[in-house]
Amino acid sequence: MDAQPADAETTQFALTEAQRAISEMARNFADERLAPHALDWDERKHFPVDVIRETATLGMGGIYVREASGGSGLSRLDAALIFEALATGCPSISAYISIHNMVAWMIDRFGDAAQRARFLPKLCAMDWLGAYCLTEPGSGSDAAALKTRAARDGDGYVLDGTKQFISGAGASDIYIVMARTGGAGPKGISTFIVPADTGGVSFGTIERKMGWNAQPTRQVILEGARVPAANRLGAEGDGFRIAMSGLDGGRLNIGACSLGGAQKALEASIAYLGERQAFGKPLNEFQALQFRLADMATGLEAARVFLWHAAAALDRSAPDATRLCAMAKRIATDTGFDVANQALQLHGGYGYLAEYGIEKIVRDLRVHQILEGTNEIMRLIVARGMIGRNA
Ligand SMILES: Cc1cc2nc3c(=O)[nH]c(=O)nc-3n(C[C@H](O)[C@H](O)[C@H](O)COP(=O)(O)OP(=O)(O)OC[C@H]3O[C@@H](n4cnc5c(N)ncnc54)[C@H](O)[C@@H]3O)c2cc1C
Repeated sequence: MDAQPADAETTQFALTEAQRAISEMARNFADERLAPHALDWDERKHFPVDVIRETATLGMGGIYVREASGGSGLSRLDAALIFEALATGCPSISAYISIHNMVAWMIDRFGDAAQRARFLPKLCAMDWLGAYCLTEPGSGSDAAALKTRAARDGDGYVLDGTKQFISGAGASDIYIVMARTGGAGPKGISTFIVPADTGGVSFGTIERKMGWNAQPTRQVILEGARVPAANRLGAEGDGFRIAMSGLDGGRLNIGACSLGGAQKALEASIAYLGERQAFGKPLNEFQALQFRLADMATGLEAARVFLWHAAAALDRSAPDATRLCAMAKRIATDTGFDVANQALQLHGGYGYLAEYGIEKIVRDLRVHQILEGTNEIMRLIVARGMIGRNA
């Protein structure tokens, strides 16, 4: 076989200097502005909007939004580096910023010039925060079964329905809402940009959760919420495709958040095993524990490299990008949770105490295996392509 020429993807195996600088900048922000407060925010269930907004000054309000639209014009791989680094400080905050970025990108990619001009400067500056509303009480994995209706009424649409589990709900300003304008199934769905102050929009109580306590999860309730037709994103019937396109990148970002949380837990374990003594020597002199650290680092590195591979595929719109993003989300979130859980074990009883910070990472990372499509649905996406079926 002829040798293949090096292409853009091959070069991704080594980060560029600019990418290393981006990652370092995000890690510094995580170390200085997130990590010192993460336990407190978790305990008080505080959503630090002011600190989140600071990331906009570093260009993180529209990371892969085009520069012409007011974004940073970076790649998906750059975004993955940023979300991994931010998650070392707090996975929950990094994940919320990733959802905001998904929303901004959807408007940049599928919006018209007027929508881009109206919404993106404020979203990229994080004067406005974004939320993504697909899930409903009766439809999660089977998202195309959603029931929220958007009825055409003169020059607008009237939305009625309930969105479930919406990250940042109540605190966000712009809601991307998937609603039914046509018949059953994915082709009957359209996407709308719904500002928080739209009449008929209200929010459920803040859910009590296992993790992700530094951001609110609430229902978004739409009761006769009227938006102008100019707020429809893309054509009628295109909403499901738009929603799924957003999720390809969202899944990479969530995977990156798992890598960052797990990386932090691994770093804490390395330090802890060096300090803690048992049977007359530091724990890091036991080979079984050295091997455990080696396996944790190897698992993380394998997941990281695969995630970068999927990010590069999405950057070049490769035909198998959706499948690779699903694989990457599954591997990164499963590996991340497993590594964090092992870190907890390596800390012994102290790992179970809140002040060591490890149990929070485990709690935060657990939900990454569920949201943005469960890891069962990720397998479904991968298997579907293998056996040539749609369901
Ligand atoms: C903290 C949190 C934040 C969230 N944020 C958002 C948000 O911002 N926006 C939003 O739209 N949604 C959000 N979600 C919703 C999340 O995406 C859904 O919970 C997820 O898609 C699963 O849907 P479900 O909970 O209805 O579970 P179900 O779909 O009822 O699934 C239950 C179980 O059955 C499995 N299952 C279902 N169908 C199949 C199948 N065909 N084959 C094999 N297994 C299957 C699932 O994998 C799961 O294990 C959030 C959820 C949480 C917990």
